[in-house]
Amino acid sequence: MRVLVIGGGIAGTATALGLHKAGLDVTVFEAHPDTAEDLGAFLTLASNGMRALAQLDATSAVTAVGFPLTSLRLLDGRGTEVSHAPLGEAADPALRYRCLRRGELNAALQGEAVRRGIRVRHGIRLVSVAGGPDGVTARFADGTTATGDLLVGADGLRSTVRRLLLPGVRPGYAGQRVYYGYTRTAPAPGPDGSITMIRGGATAFGYAVSPAGETYWFAREGGDPLPAGAPAAPTAGARERLLTLLRA
Ligand SMILES: Cc1cc2nc3c(=O)[nH]c(=O)nc-3n(C[C@H](O)[C@H](O)[C@H](O)COP(=O)(O)OP(=O)(O)OC[C@H]3O[C@@H](n4cnc5c(N)ncnc54)[C@H](O)[C@@H]3O)c2cc1C
Repeated sequence: MRVLVIGGGIAGTATALGLHKAGLDVTVFEAHPDTAEDLGAFLTLASNGMRALAQLDATSAVTAVGFPLTSLRLLDGRGTEVSHAPLGEAADPALRYRCLRRGELNAALQGEAVRRGIRVRHGIRLVSVAGGPDGVTARFADGTTATGDLLVGADGLRSTVRRLLLPGVRPGYAGQRVYYGYTRTAPAPGPDGSITMIRGGATAFGYAVSPAGETYWFAREGGDPLPAGAPAAPTAGARERLLTLLRA
């Protein structure tokens, strides 16, 4: 069976690894011209995600990037520790929570796919899909086409596949904005494998310190969706507003 996976993000690449392991002939079509290692900030993979990656035989590829997290500290709004408990399956190095830059995770999965002989084609943007007697044909912005027995839409939040097949379905705004940052100068304690969450204020704030001493932080704020065309990176005004919220 020939499978066309549209989108070489985390979902598309992981799907390709699974389908290839099941013996299917898979090609990934990714709009971005390269592995996009500079896009996005970071995320935390929980033990269930690490278990899913183990089932795809991708543990080594993924544990080569990022750093493990073994405990969760919860602080209240005044900074008092409320709890400090092991996180997930902390005893198993393959299943420990892991903090990774999104781009590094995506590049690791794409690299693993290529290593296994899966075709990952960059700079190929899907524009239309048509069913026919020979299967499903994908047409791309560069005028090329590909035909398969199955097409998997893994092209993210603003999915072209979803728009083409289910034009009335739209993603829903979840009501939160999330800010991410890195710093090497935070007065945070050294790396101890913990992620710290501070709750109780107007925003939720969290951080983890990498073995190299870099603090990865995020803040979540409720609010209306950003206006269309608003810059993805926070403006100076947004930074001041976030600081005010975090101090409250
Ligand atoms: C740029 C970016 C940065 C992010 N950063 C973070 C983060 O720092 N922390 C966090 O927790 N979450 C982040 N997210 C969200 C998180 O990565 C997603 O929830 C998760 O990646 C979803 O995986 P996905 O593979 O379904 O979609 P995506 O990661 O969005 O991947 C979809 C892929 O499809 C490709 N694509 C889109 N349209 C087409 C098309 N027409 N033809 C071919 N390819 C197409 C895109 O280029 C992309 O590579 C980010 C998402 C993006 C897109």
